[in-house]
Amino acid sequence: MDLSYPPETEPFRKEIRAWLADHLPEGWGTPGFSMTREERKAFNASWTETLFAGGWICASWPKEYGGKGLSLMESVVLNEEFARAQAPLRADFFGDTLVGPTILQWGTEEQKQHFIPGILNGTISWCQGFSEPDAGSDLASLKTRAELDGDEWVINGQKVWTTQAQFADYIFLLARTDPDAPKHAGISYLLVPMKQPGVEVRPIEQVDGSADFNEVFFTNVRCPRANVVGGEHNGWKVAMTTLGFERGSSATTGHRRFLRELDQIIAAARANGRVEDPLIRQRLATAWSKVKIMEINGYRSLTDSLNGTHHTAALGACNKMFWTETHQQTMELALDILGMDAQVLTGSFDPDADERVQRGRDDYPVSDLQASFFFSRSETIWGGTAEIQRNIVGERVLGLPKEPKPAAAGA
Ligand SMILES: Cc1cc2nc3c(=O)[nH]c(=O)nc-3n(C[C@H](O)[C@H](O)[C@H](O)COP(=O)(O)OP(=O)(O)OC[C@H]3O[C@@H](n4cnc5c(N)ncnc54)[C@H](O)[C@@H]3O)c2cc1C
Repeated sequence: MDLSYPPETEPFRKEIRAWLADHLPEGWGTPGFSMTREERKAFNASWTETLFAGGWICASWPKEYGGKGLSLMESVVLNEEFARAQAPLRADFFGDTLVGPTILQWGTEEQKQHFIPGILNGTISWCQGFSEPDAGSDLASLKTRAELDGDEWVINGQKVWTTQAQFADYIFLLARTDPDAPKHAGISYLLVPMKQPGVEVRPIEQVDGSADFNEVFFTNVRCPRANVVGGEHNGWKVAMTTLGFERGSSATTGHRRFLRELDQIIAAARANGRVEDPLIRQRLATAWSKVKIMEINGYRSLTDSLNGTHHTAALGACNKMFWTETHQQTMELALDILGMDAQVLTGSFDPDADERVQRGRDDYPVSDLQASFFFSRSETIWGGTAEIQRNIVGERVLGLPKEPKPAAAGA
Protein backbone atom coordinates (compact mmCIF):
# COMPACT_ATOMS: atom_id res chain seq x y z
CA MET A 1 0.00 0.00 0.00
CA ASP A 2 1.44 3.40 -0.96
CA LEU A 3 0.08 6.19 1.22
CA SER A 4 2.22 8.99 -0.23
CA TYR A 5 0.40 11.85 -1.95
CA PRO A 6 1.11 13.00 -5.52
CA PRO A 7 4.18 15.36 -5.57
CA GLU A 8 2.10 18.16 -7.16
CA THR A 9 0.17 18.58 -3.89
CA GLU A 10 3.35 19.62 -2.02
CA PRO A 11 3.55 23.28 -3.21
CA PHE A 12 -0.11 23.66 -2.24
CA ARG A 13 0.57 22.19 1.21
CA LYS A 14 3.40 24.72 1.65
CA GLU A 15 1.13 27.57 0.53
CA ILE A 16 -1.49 26.71 3.17
CA ARG A 17 1.11 26.19 5.87
CA ALA A 18 2.58 29.64 5.11
CA TRP A 19 -0.87 31.25 5.10
CA LEU A 20 -1.69 29.71 8.48
CA ALA A 21 1.66 30.84 9.92
CA ASP A 22 0.93 34.39 8.69
CA HIS A 23 -2.64 34.56 9.98
CA LEU A 24 -2.84 32.56 13.21
CA PRO A 25 -1.74 34.24 16.45
CA GLU A 26 1.94 33.68 17.31
CA GLY A 27 2.44 30.34 19.07
CA TRP A 28 -1.04 29.00 18.26
CA GLY A 29 -1.32 25.24 18.84
CA THR A 30 1.97 24.98 20.76
CA PRO A 31 2.04 23.76 24.38
CA GLY A 32 1.63 26.63 26.78
CA PHE A 33 -0.08 28.89 24.23
CA SER A 34 -2.82 30.95 25.80
CA MET A 35 -4.93 33.99 25.00
CA THR A 36 -6.50 36.57 27.24
CA ARG A 37 -10.29 36.69 27.25
CA GLU A 38 -10.20 39.82 25.06
CA GLU A 39 -7.77 38.25 22.58
CA ARG A 40 -9.93 35.12 22.25
CA LYS A 41 -13.04 37.22 21.76
CA ALA A 42 -11.33 39.27 19.05
CA PHE A 43 -10.02 36.11 17.36
CA ASN A 44 -13.45 34.43 17.35
CA ALA A 45 -15.05 37.58 15.97
CA SER A 46 -12.63 37.98 13.08
CA TRP A 47 -11.55 34.47 12.08
CA THR A 48 -14.45 33.72 9.68
CA GLU A 49 -13.72 36.99 7.88
CA THR A 50 -10.02 36.10 7.68
CA LEU A 51 -10.83 32.64 6.30
CA PHE A 52 -13.25 34.16 3.79
CA ALA A 53 -10.67 36.71 2.65
CA GLY A 54 -8.20 33.84 2.12
CA GLY A 55 -10.84 31.99 0.08
CA TRP A 56 -10.58 28.88 2.29
CA ILE A 57 -14.24 28.44 3.22
CA CYS A 58 -15.69 25.76 0.91
CA ALA A 59 -12.63 26.13 -1.31
CA SER A 60 -13.62 23.04 -3.33
CA TRP A 61 -16.72 24.83 -4.66
CA PRO A 62 -16.62 26.07 -8.27
CA LYS A 63 -14.91 29.41 -8.88
CA GLU A 64 -18.06 30.96 -10.38
CA TYR A 65 -19.77 30.51 -7.00
CA GLY A 66 -16.92 31.89 -4.90
CA GLY A 67 -14.89 28.74 -4.27
CA LYS A 68 -11.38 28.02 -5.53
CA GLY A 69 -12.41 24.94 -7.51
CA LEU A 70 -9.94 22.77 -5.56
CA SER A 71 -9.45 19.17 -6.65
CA LEU A 72 -10.27 16.39 -4.20
CA MET A 73 -6.57 15.90 -3.33
CA GLU A 74 -6.12 19.64 -2.77
CA SER A 75 -9.17 19.70 -0.49
CA VAL A 76 -7.73 16.80 1.48
CA VAL A 77 -4.42 18.62 1.87
CA LEU A 78 -6.24 21.80 2.91
CA ASN A 79 -8.19 19.92 5.59
CA GLU A 80 -5.05 18.16 6.78
CA GLU A 81 -3.08 21.39 7.19
CA PHE A 82 -5.88 23.13 9.08
CA ALA A 83 -6.31 20.05 11.29
CA ARG A 84 -2.54 19.88 11.91
CA ALA A 85 -2.56 23.56 12.95
CA GLN A 86 -5.80 23.03 14.96
CA ALA A 87 -7.32 25.99 13.14
CA PRO A 88 -11.08 26.19 12.53
CA LEU A 89 -12.02 25.84 8.84
CA ARG A 90 -15.65 26.68 8.52
CA ALA A 91 -18.21 29.42 8.79
CA ASP A 92 -21.32 27.39 9.63
CA PHE A 93 -21.43 23.56 9.67
CA PHE A 94 -24.95 23.26 8.25
CA GLY A 95 -24.27 25.82 5.53
CA ASP A 96 -20.81 24.65 4.47
CA THR A 97 -21.31 20.92 4.72
CA LEU A 98 -24.98 20.19 4.13
CA VAL A 99 -27.23 22.77 2.53
CA GLY A 100 -24.51 24.57 0.50
CA PRO A 101 -23.45 21.47 -1.48
CA THR A 102 -27.14 20.53 -1.85
CA ILE A 103 -27.99 23.93 -3.36
CA LEU A 104 -24.98 23.67 -5.67
CA GLN A 105 -26.14 20.25 -6.87
CA TRP A 106 -29.91 20.78 -7.07
CA GLY A 107 -30.62 24.51 -6.77
CA THR A 108 -31.76 26.94 -9.44
CA GLU A 109 -29.35 29.63 -10.63
CA GLU A 110 -31.36 32.20 -8.60
CA GLN A 111 -31.04 30.09 -5.45
CA LYS A 112 -27.28 29.75 -5.97
CA GLN A 113 -26.88 33.51 -6.48
CA HIS A 114 -29.06 34.29 -3.49
CA PHE A 115 -27.81 31.81 -0.88
CA ILE A 116 -24.24 30.76 -1.72
CA PRO A 117 -22.49 34.10 -0.97
CA GLY A 118 -24.06 34.24 2.52
CA ILE A 119 -22.93 30.67 3.21
CA LEU A 120 -19.38 31.46 2.13
CA ASN A 121 -18.98 34.60 4.19
CA GLY A 122 -20.82 33.20 7.19
CA THR A 123 -23.59 35.81 7.25
CA ILE A 124 -26.44 33.27 6.94
CA SER A 125 -26.76 30.68 9.72
CA TRP A 126 -28.65 27.45 9.01
CA CYS A 127 -30.33 24.59 10.78
CA GLN A 128 -31.62 21.24 9.53
CA GLY A 129 -35.35 20.54 9.83
CA PHE A 130 -35.70 16.86 8.98
CA SER A 131 -36.55 14.91 12.18
CA GLU A 132 -40.00 15.00 13.77
CA PRO A 133 -41.45 13.35 16.88
CA ASP A 134 -42.60 10.35 14.79
CA ALA A 135 -40.09 10.57 11.96
CA GLY A 136 -36.40 9.96 12.70
CA SER A 137 -34.91 6.76 11.28
CA ASP A 138 -38.15 6.42 9.33
CA LEU A 139 -37.84 9.96 7.99
CA ALA A 140 -40.38 9.48 5.20
CA SER A 141 -43.14 9.34 7.85
CA LEU A 142 -42.82 13.10 8.36
CA LYS A 143 -46.08 15.01 8.79
CA THR A 144 -45.16 18.70 8.61
CA ARG A 145 -47.28 20.15 5.81
CA ALA A 146 -46.65 22.93 3.30
CA GLU A 147 -49.59 24.19 1.24
CA LEU A 148 -49.48 26.67 -1.60
CA ASP A 149 -51.13 30.04 -1.13
CA GLY A 150 -50.43 32.09 -4.25
CA ASP A 151 -46.67 32.43 -4.55
CA GLU A 152 -45.96 31.21 -1.03
CA TRP A 153 -45.89 27.95 0.91
CA VAL A 154 -47.73 27.99 4.23
CA ILE A 155 -46.10 25.60 6.70
CA ASN A 156 -47.64 23.91 9.73
CA GLY A 157 -46.11 21.19 11.90
CA GLN A 158 -43.26 20.38 14.26
CA LYS A 159 -39.60 19.45 13.99
CA VAL A 160 -37.43 18.12 16.81
CA TRP A 161 -33.72 17.81 17.71
CA THR A 162 -33.11 20.84 15.52
CA THR A 163 -29.52 21.76 16.33
CA GLN A 164 -28.71 25.50 16.42
CA ALA A 165 -32.27 26.50 15.49
CA GLN A 166 -31.98 29.28 18.09
CA PHE A 167 -29.24 30.96 16.00
CA ALA A 168 -30.47 30.12 12.51
CA ASP A 169 -31.61 32.60 9.85
CA TYR A 170 -32.88 29.76 7.63
CA ILE A 171 -33.96 26.17 8.06
CA PHE A 172 -33.68 23.61 5.26
CA LEU A 173 -36.87 21.76 5.91
CA LEU A 174 -38.68 18.69 4.61
CA ALA A 175 -42.43 19.10 4.36
CA ARG A 176 -45.25 17.09 2.83
CA THR A 177 -46.51 19.05 -0.17
CA ASP A 178 -48.65 16.33 -1.76
CA PRO A 179 -50.49 14.41 0.97
CA ASP A 180 -52.10 12.06 -1.57
CA ALA A 181 -48.82 10.80 -3.02
CA PRO A 182 -47.05 7.66 -1.67
CA LYS A 183 -44.90 8.16 1.45
CA HIS A 184 -41.57 8.96 -0.25
CA ALA A 185 -43.14 11.06 -3.00
CA GLY A 186 -44.97 14.30 -2.21
CA ILE A 187 -42.20 15.68 0.01
CA SER A 188 -40.46 18.98 -0.82
CA TYR A 189 -37.15 20.45 0.37
CA LEU A 190 -37.75 24.08 1.37
CA LEU A 191 -35.46 26.92 2.44
CA VAL A 192 -37.54 28.69 5.07
CA PRO A 193 -36.70 31.99 6.83
CA MET A 194 -36.64 31.42 10.61
CA LYS A 195 -37.01 35.01 11.80
CA GLN A 196 -40.76 35.43 11.25
CA PRO A 197 -44.01 35.14 13.23
CA GLY A 198 -45.23 31.54 13.64
CA VAL A 199 -41.77 30.03 14.18
CA GLU A 200 -41.36 29.00 17.82
CA VAL A 201 -38.02 27.58 18.97
CA ARG A 202 -38.03 25.72 22.31
CA PRO A 203 -34.57 24.67 23.56
CA ILE A 204 -34.10 21.11 24.90
CA GLU A 205 -31.73 21.23 27.85
CA GLN A 206 -29.25 18.38 28.18
CA VAL A 207 -27.68 16.75 31.19
CA ASP A 208 -24.59 19.02 31.07
CA GLY A 209 -26.74 22.14 31.00
CA SER A 210 -26.19 22.96 27.31
CA ALA A 211 -29.19 23.36 25.05
CA ASP A 212 -27.89 23.16 21.52
CA PHE A 213 -30.88 21.45 20.04
CA ASN A 214 -34.52 22.40 20.03
CA GLU A 215 -38.11 21.67 19.25
CA VAL A 216 -39.34 23.95 16.46
CA PHE A 217 -43.05 24.62 15.94
CA PHE A 218 -44.43 26.08 12.70
CA THR A 219 -47.81 27.82 12.65
CA ASN A 220 -48.78 29.32 9.29
CA VAL A 221 -45.14 30.07 8.53
CA ARG A 222 -44.52 31.48 5.07
CA CYS A 223 -41.87 30.68 2.51
CA PRO A 224 -41.53 31.86 -1.13
CA ARG A 225 -42.64 29.24 -3.65
CA ALA A 226 -39.29 29.65 -5.40
CA ASN A 227 -37.43 28.35 -2.31
CA VAL A 228 -38.05 24.69 -3.19
CA VAL A 229 -34.75 22.94 -3.94
CA GLY A 230 -34.71 20.30 -6.68
CA GLY A 231 -38.33 20.67 -7.79
CA GLU A 232 -41.70 20.42 -6.03
CA HIS A 233 -42.47 16.99 -4.46
CA ASN A 234 -38.91 15.83 -5.24
CA GLY A 235 -37.55 16.47 -1.73
CA TRP A 236 -36.80 12.85 -0.84
CA LYS A 237 -34.09 12.55 -3.50
CA VAL A 238 -32.67 15.94 -2.54
CA ALA A 239 -32.66 15.03 1.18
CA MET A 240 -30.79 11.81 0.47
CA THR A 241 -28.05 13.89 -1.17
CA THR A 242 -27.82 16.06 1.97
CA LEU A 243 -27.60 12.98 4.21
CA GLY A 244 -24.85 11.62 1.94
CA PHE A 245 -22.82 14.79 2.60
CA GLU A 246 -23.52 14.43 6.34
CA ARG A 247 -22.28 10.86 6.47
CA GLY A 248 -19.20 11.14 4.31
CA SER A 249 -17.29 14.28 5.20
CA SER A 250 -14.40 13.36 7.54
CA ALA A 251 -12.02 11.25 5.33
CA THR A 252 -8.38 11.63 6.38
CA THR A 253 -8.65 14.19 9.19
CA GLY A 254 -11.57 12.87 11.26
CA HIS A 255 -9.38 10.68 13.49
CA ARG A 256 -7.13 13.53 14.62
CA ARG A 257 -9.39 14.97 17.27
CA PHE A 258 -9.70 11.50 18.82
CA LEU A 259 -5.92 11.17 18.88
CA ARG A 260 -5.60 14.55 20.63
CA GLU A 261 -8.28 13.53 23.12
CA LEU A 262 -6.53 10.22 23.75
CA ASP A 263 -3.36 12.17 24.60
CA GLN A 264 -5.40 14.03 27.24
CA ILE A 265 -6.74 10.74 28.62
CA ILE A 266 -3.24 9.23 28.76
CA ALA A 267 -1.98 12.38 30.53
CA ALA A 268 -4.77 11.96 33.11
CA ALA A 269 -3.79 8.29 33.61
CA ARG A 270 -0.15 9.27 34.08
CA ALA A 271 -1.10 12.02 36.52
CA ASN A 272 -3.15 9.77 38.84
CA GLY A 273 -1.05 6.64 38.45
CA ARG A 274 -3.74 4.54 36.73
CA VAL A 275 -1.36 4.13 33.81
CA GLU A 276 0.43 1.47 35.91
CA ASP A 277 -2.69 -0.73 35.93
CA PRO A 278 -2.21 -3.44 33.25
CA LEU A 279 -5.93 -3.54 32.42
CA ILE A 280 -6.02 0.22 31.89
CA ARG A 281 -2.88 -0.02 29.76
CA GLN A 282 -4.55 -2.70 27.65
CA ARG A 283 -7.67 -0.57 27.17
CA LEU A 284 -5.53 2.45 26.24
CA ALA A 285 -3.68 0.35 23.67
CA THR A 286 -7.02 -0.83 22.24
CA ALA A 287 -8.28 2.78 22.06
CA TRP A 288 -5.11 3.87 20.24
CA SER A 289 -5.36 0.95 17.80
CA LYS A 290 -8.96 1.86 17.02
CA VAL A 291 -8.00 5.46 16.24
CA LYS A 292 -5.39 4.01 13.88
CA ILE A 293 -8.15 1.95 12.22
CA MET A 294 -10.19 5.16 11.85
CA GLU A 295 -7.23 6.74 10.07
CA ILE A 296 -6.94 3.77 7.70
CA ASN A 297 -10.70 3.79 7.11
CA GLY A 298 -10.29 7.45 6.11
CA TYR A 299 -7.68 6.55 3.50
CA ARG A 300 -10.00 3.82 2.26
CA SER A 301 -12.82 6.34 1.75
CA LEU A 302 -10.43 8.73 0.00
CA THR A 303 -9.21 5.94 -2.30
CA ASP A 304 -12.82 5.09 -3.12
CA SER A 305 -13.55 8.71 -4.07
CA LEU A 306 -10.33 9.06 -6.11
CA ASN A 307 -10.97 5.83 -7.98
CA GLY A 308 -14.67 6.61 -8.45
CA THR A 309 -15.65 3.17 -7.15
CA HIS A 310 -18.78 4.60 -5.49
CA HIS A 311 -18.86 2.57 -2.32
CA THR A 312 -19.48 5.82 -0.42
CA ALA A 313 -22.70 4.76 1.33
CA ALA A 314 -21.34 1.41 2.49
CA LEU A 315 -17.99 2.87 3.62
CA GLY A 316 -19.76 5.81 5.28
CA ALA A 317 -21.99 3.42 7.26
CA CYS A 318 -19.00 1.26 8.36
CA ASN A 319 -17.03 4.34 9.38
CA LYS A 320 -19.88 6.04 11.27
CA MET A 321 -20.70 2.86 13.19
CA PHE A 322 -17.03 2.33 14.03
CA TRP A 323 -16.00 5.82 15.12
CA THR A 324 -19.13 6.54 17.17
CA GLU A 325 -18.99 3.27 19.11
CA THR A 326 -15.22 3.54 19.57
CA HIS A 327 -15.56 7.07 20.90
CA GLN A 328 -18.19 6.00 23.45
CA GLN A 329 -15.92 3.18 24.69
CA THR A 330 -12.95 5.55 24.90
CA MET A 331 -14.89 8.12 26.91
CA GLU A 332 -16.05 5.39 29.30
CA LEU A 333 -12.40 4.49 29.70
CA ALA A 334 -11.61 8.17 30.40
CA LEU A 335 -14.15 8.25 33.22
CA ASP A 336 -12.85 4.95 34.64
CA ILE A 337 -9.37 6.47 34.69
CA LEU A 338 -10.58 9.63 36.42
CA GLY A 339 -12.52 7.54 38.95
CA MET A 340 -14.35 9.62 41.58
CA ASP A 341 -12.71 12.78 40.16
CA ALA A 342 -14.91 12.35 37.08
CA GLN A 343 -17.83 13.48 39.23
CA VAL A 344 -16.21 16.78 40.14
CA LEU A 345 -16.90 19.61 37.72
CA THR A 346 -13.46 20.92 36.89
CA GLY A 347 -14.17 22.86 33.70
CA SER A 348 -14.09 26.60 33.31
CA PHE A 349 -17.08 28.03 31.51
CA ASP A 350 -16.06 30.70 29.00
CA PRO A 351 -18.95 33.13 28.44
CA ASP A 352 -17.15 34.59 25.40
CA ALA A 353 -16.77 31.29 23.55
CA ASP A 354 -18.75 30.82 20.35
CA GLU A 355 -22.23 29.92 21.67
CA ARG A 356 -22.65 27.35 18.93
CA VAL A 357 -19.86 25.16 20.28
CA GLN A 358 -20.03 26.02 23.96
CA ARG A 359 -20.59 23.11 26.37
CA GLY A 360 -21.95 23.26 29.90
CA ARG A 361 -23.16 26.30 31.82
CA ASP A 362 -21.59 28.74 34.23
CA ASP A 363 -23.15 26.81 37.16
CA TYR A 364 -22.31 23.43 35.58
CA PRO A 365 -18.75 23.83 34.27
CA VAL A 366 -17.89 20.51 32.60
CA SER A 367 -14.27 19.80 31.67
CA ASP A 368 -13.39 18.91 28.08
CA LEU A 369 -13.40 15.18 28.90
CA GLN A 370 -16.71 15.37 30.76
CA ALA A 371 -18.32 17.33 27.89
CA SER A 372 -16.97 14.84 25.39
CA PHE A 373 -18.26 11.90 27.45
CA PHE A 374 -21.78 13.38 27.46
CA PHE A 375 -21.70 14.28 23.77
CA SER A 376 -20.40 10.84 22.78
CA ARG A 377 -23.73 9.38 23.93
CA SER A 378 -25.48 11.23 21.10
CA GLU A 379 -23.03 10.25 18.37
CA THR A 380 -24.57 6.81 17.77
CA ILE A 381 -27.90 8.59 17.15
CA TRP A 382 -27.50 11.71 15.00
CA GLY A 383 -26.76 11.39 11.31
CA GLY A 384 -28.32 7.89 11.29
CA THR A 385 -28.26 5.59 14.32
CA ALA A 386 -25.73 2.77 14.78
CA GLU A 387 -28.56 0.25 14.20
CA ILE A 388 -29.48 1.88 10.90
CA GLN A 389 -25.79 1.86 9.87
CA ARG A 390 -25.77 -1.88 10.66
CA ASN A 391 -28.78 -2.37 8.38
CA ILE A 392 -26.88 -0.59 5.59
CA VAL A 393 -23.74 -2.66 6.22
CA GLY A 394 -25.83 -5.85 6.29
CA GLU A 395 -27.53 -5.08 3.01
CA ARG A 396 -24.83 -3.30 1.03
CA VAL A 397 -21.59 -4.78 2.35
CA LEU A 398 -22.55 -8.29 3.43
CA GLY A 399 -25.28 -8.73 0.81
CA LEU A 400 -27.87 -9.90 3.36
CA PRO A 401 -31.57 -9.83 2.39
CA LYS A 402 -33.30 -6.48 2.77
CA GLU A 403 -34.99 -5.72 6.06
CA PRO A 404 -38.66 -6.82 5.84
CA LYS A 405 -41.05 -3.86 5.64
CA PRO A 406 -44.07 -3.88 7.96
CA ALA A 407 -47.07 -5.48 6.16
CA ALA A 408 -49.52 -2.97 4.66
CA ALA A 409 -52.86 -2.62 6.45
CA GLY A 410 -55.22 -5.41 5.40
CA ALA A 411 -52.41 -7.43 3.83
C1 LIG B 1 -27.25 15.47 19.12
C2 LIG B 1 -28.31 15.32 18.07
C3 LIG B 1 -28.48 16.31 17.13
C4 LIG B 1 -29.45 16.17 16.14
N1 LIG B 1 -29.61 17.21 15.26
C5 LIG B 1 -30.58 17.13 14.33
C6 LIG B 1 -30.83 18.23 13.46
O1 LIG B 1 -30.17 19.26 13.52
N2 LIG B 1 -31.83 18.13 12.56
C7 LIG B 1 -32.58 17.00 12.45
O2 LIG B 1 -33.45 16.96 11.58
N3 LIG B 1 -32.42 15.94 13.28
C8 LIG B 1 -31.43 15.99 14.22
N4 LIG B 1 -31.23 14.93 15.08
C9 LIG B 1 -32.16 13.81 15.04
C10 LIG B 1 -31.57 12.52 14.52
O3 LIG B 1 -31.39 12.55 13.14
C11 LIG B 1 -32.52 11.39 14.94
O4 LIG B 1 -32.48 11.34 16.36
C12 LIG B 1 -32.15 10.05 14.38
O5 LIG B 1 -32.37 10.01 13.00
C13 LIG B 1 -32.94 8.90 15.06
O6 LIG B 1 -34.31 9.15 15.02
P1 LIG B 1 -35.22 9.09 16.35
O7 LIG B 1 -34.55 9.89 17.41
O8 LIG B 1 -36.60 9.47 15.96
O9 LIG B 1 -35.17 7.57 16.80
P2 LIG B 1 -36.00 6.37 16.17
O10 LIG B 1 -35.89 6.38 14.70
O11 LIG B 1 -37.37 6.39 16.77
O12 LIG B 1 -35.20 5.13 16.73
C14 LIG B 1 -35.36 4.63 18.07
C15 LIG B 1 -34.47 3.39 18.20
O13 LIG B 1 -34.96 2.38 17.29
C16 LIG B 1 -33.91 1.96 16.42
N5 LIG B 1 -34.44 1.70 15.07
C17 LIG B 1 -35.31 2.47 14.37
N6 LIG B 1 -35.55 1.93 13.17
C18 LIG B 1 -34.82 0.79 13.09
C19 LIG B 1 -34.66 -0.21 12.09
N7 LIG B 1 -35.26 -0.13 10.91
N8 LIG B 1 -33.81 -1.24 12.36
C20 LIG B 1 -33.15 -1.32 13.55
N9 LIG B 1 -33.29 -0.41 14.54
C21 LIG B 1 -34.10 0.63 14.32
C22 LIG B 1 -32.95 3.14 16.38
O14 LIG B 1 -31.65 2.73 16.00
C23 LIG B 1 -33.02 3.65 17.80
O15 LIG B 1 -32.18 2.89 18.64
C24 LIG B 1 -30.27 15.02 16.09
C25 LIG B 1 -30.11 14.02 17.05
C26 LIG B 1 -29.16 14.16 18.03
C27 LIG B 1 -29.03 13.06 19.07
